[in-house]
Amino acid sequence: MSVAYLLPCPCGQSLRINVSQAGGVVTCDCGASVVVPRLRELRNLPEVESIEERPSAWGAAQGVLAIGAILAALLLAAAGWLNANEPPAPPQVDTAGYLKSVSVGVEGLSPAQSYDLWLQRYQPLASLGFVDDLQPQIDLAQQAIALHRTYRNVALIAAGLALAGGIVAGLMLRRSGVVKQVNHA
Ligand SMILES: [Zn+2]
Repeated sequence: MSVAYLLPCPCGQSLRINVSQAGGVVTCDCGASVVVPRLRELRNLPEVESIEERPSAWGAAQGVLAIGAILAALLLAAAGWLNANEPPAPPQVDTAGYLKSVSVGVEGLSPAQSYDLWLQRYQPLASLGFVDDLQPQIDLAQQAIALHRTYRNVALIAAGLALAGGIVAGLMLRRSGVVKQVNHA
């Protein structure tokens, strides 16, 4: 960071000088020529941050970089959350276990309830077969997982882009700041 020093003029004003002017002569607004101390003595003068030139560009560059980094962190967090909270896996085709659970469920049911169960469960099974009955559920679960992973990947890519964009924009701003400073000198 560039630092400026305040060099007092006999007229009472303070002249803002920088390190590159050490050992030279500056002209005050009052017309007086003031000798600038050499570097070693310069450091004894009151210090001020040079706020007009490079630091402002630096600040903007750091700001853009910080925004990119924060955005990237948020997107990474979102991707992590998506990764940790995947939809349930598709149901397994477990014919024996399924039939057993249905049999247990049937016990203690009234004839009317058994008939309802027959209509809801066994008839589709009888007509479609067990796997075909489950297949729509499996498809839906797999689609949900695939969509979820797409969101996660998009979040990861966006995080990378945000970080890269922040770095590139920051570097460009910094470079423009350096050019501005050279023009000032
Ligand atoms: Zn003066």
